[in-house]
Amino acid sequence: MIVLKTIAELNQFNKVTRQNKVLGFVPTMGALHQGHLSLIKQSKLNTDLTLCSIFVNPTQFNNQTDFEKYPITLETDLELLKAVECNAVFIPSVDEMYPKTETLNHYNFGFLETVMEGMHRPGHFNGVGLILDKLFTLINPNKAFFGEKDFQQLKIVESLVKQNKFDIEIIGCPILREIDGLAMSSRNMRLTPDQRTEATFLYKTLKEAAVRSKNLNPYELKLWIENEFIQKTNFKLDYVEIANETDLMPIKNWDLNLKPRIFIATFLGDVRLIDNLPLNN
Ligand code: AMP
Repeated sequence: MIVLKTIAELNQFNKVTRQNKVLGFVPTMGALHQGHLSLIKQSKLNTDLTLCSIFVNPTQFNNQTDFEKYPITLETDLELLKAVECNAVFIPSVDEMYPKTETLNHYNFGFLETVMEGMHRPGHFNGVGLILDKLFTLINPNKAFFGEKDFQQLKIVESLVKQNKFDIEIIGCPILREIDGLAMSSRNMRLTPDQRTEATFLYKTLKEAAVRSKNLNPYELKLWIENEFIQKTNFKLDYVEIANETDLMPIKNWDLNLKPRIFIATFLGDVRLIDNLPLNN
């Protein structure tokens, strides 16, 4: 696996190794798990060469503690990437990606950035836009792979590609879960053993909500989920939304033309967990 640490090395990779091959790109913030590796595997199935980036992007953290406590496991990450035969990894420094003299862009993602993560993490999607704009421009991949774990981010990325006219196919990939249903996440490493056991409540609630959606309207379903969380004192619910997959507009009734998906964000202790589940009513 080729390890690229600077933009100069990346440019050299594009010129020498890539040439005319179809390049798949998987951006990550490291602390890799099987969810990330599933994206690499998807890329390998659909392209000639796969490049993964590992960069804990400071501009997308609206909470300084979350940034400081974000797990870093670079050596293990590189071993995992080698094991799945990822072709190249880009691990730039913060100075490389954000030169001190640079003025930062501002992005407009319209309605998409006003709800859920956008509303609860001010500035988050602008940071996501900043780093992906840079990475897409530098790497210029043919395809880029994103997890539905961050479903709203996937929509933001599609919007960025459209607005900036990047010639990149964005491919959404399903959420990988632990055996007990918890969505894999780098932040799960920060849960205590007790919290890790309790964390399964999030997916269990989503699954039960899917069953209850047969008898409740979206408003009643949202209330039912909120009530379930009130009874779990270790959780602090950030939001529950039932929204349409295509535009993330809140859903008021089970209209057959809509594609409803439940979105939940919650704190468990000081670890923020997000998850989502499509409803096939
Ligand atoms: P992150 O390192 O958290 O920025 O995630 C990098 C990419 O991996 C994003 O596209 C995420 O949506 C994706 N990802 C994270 N967790 C999972 C998961 N459990 N299943 C599938 N994709 C995931």
